[in-house]
Amino acid sequence: MSSFLPFTRPSIDEQTIAEVAEVLRSGWLASGPKVAQFEAALSQYCGGRPVRTQTSATASLEHALLACGIGAGDEVIVPAMSFVASANVVVRTGARPVFVDVDLDTRSIDIDAAEAAISPRTRAIMPVHLSGLPVDLDRIHALATRYRLRVIEDAAQAMGASYRGRRIGSSGDLVCFSFHPNKNITSIEGGAVVGGSSEEVRALELHRFHGQVRLAPDQCETYFAGGKANLTDVAACVGLGQLRQLEGFTARRRALAARYFELWADAPPLRLPARGDAGHNWHMFAVLLPLERMRISRAEFIAAMAARGIGIGVHYPAIHLFSAYRALGHHDGEFPNAERIGRETVTLPLFPAMSDSDPERVVTAVNAVLREAMR
Ligand SMILES: *Cc1c(COP(=O)(O)O)cnc(C)c1O
Repeated sequence: MSSFLPFTRPSIDEQTIAEVAEVLRSGWLASGPKVAQFEAALSQYCGGRPVRTQTSATASLEHALLACGIGAGDEVIVPAMSFVASANVVVRTGARPVFVDVDLDTRSIDIDAAEAAISPRTRAIMPVHLSGLPVDLDRIHALATRYRLRVIEDAAQAMGASYRGRRIGSSGDLVCFSFHPNKNITSIEGGAVVGGSSEEVRALELHRFHGQVRLAPDQCETYFAGGKANLTDVAACVGLGQLRQLEGFTARRRALAARYFELWADAPPLRLPARGDAGHNWHMFAVLLPLERMRISRAEFIAAMAARGIGIGVHYPAIHLFSAYRALGHHDGEFPNAERIGRETVTLPLFPAMSDSDPERVVTAVNAVLREAMR
């Protein structure tokens, strides 16, 4: 039997490993020249816009909100289907996340529902490019302009994706990327905020380092009790090596996703995701199981796939049904699509190092497990 196929795995090349070794020998490990180089390379990728890195996209999103002055008394519109960080960061600033449902197949925020959710307290909207399928940014920005809202893009999964021929990150308001090992490029852990006025970029720098600036070689000032979220040079070095490979990674993901669609061209036994267009980066291939017609649970499906040597992920439970959000008054039935996705979604293997025959191996296993499981 062939080896276990995980649902994702990072690809680190030997050149990057050699460069990391050089950084480790250099005597400078924390934020230094490599961080500056990584930020410059990301900025170049994003059409010259300002870029500041953080230790995670969670920190990036939180700092982006804080840099916009969002806090207690404010509301931020967030999709109910995303990684929980999208809402947690809003709560952490003291503001209130206002959830909105998503489309079942694109899993993008419902923009009409977002408009209906706007109140006099709404300060920002946070669209999430889930699975790397860009949301309709033109409509989001038109809405933001009409209601004078900030747009904080959760682009954690969108590195390498484009919207109408424009790279995600190259336009818009504030755009936040993740470099977690599961994302399309990694810096081990890491994130970045793209965009912002010069004052906001300054605020991002303060938030990631104690609210502190150096005024002279022997003098510094602390303006507020800031946190600590600066990237290391080791991480930035990994990120630089990954950014070099981004184009190839994305092409490979697109080819593998196309293969899944080809193998399930007629009568797929489960609900396939929206195909999107050429700008989709295929961060994930997440399908919906026909649970109501199955004799086994999703957990049993995952176990049956594991027994066949295939790893399956779950991205994500609906955010509003976590106890942290039920405690704020949320309940079942509020956002039917997000809840259904939360119950039925499974993520199939998709990562650049997969072999050409792996999608067929996955599809054969899924078909067999489902054939057995149908009522
Ligand atoms: C991964 C992810 C985050 C958080 O990124 P980290 O770098 O792990 O903090 C936020 N939002 C979405 C949609 C994500 O997928």
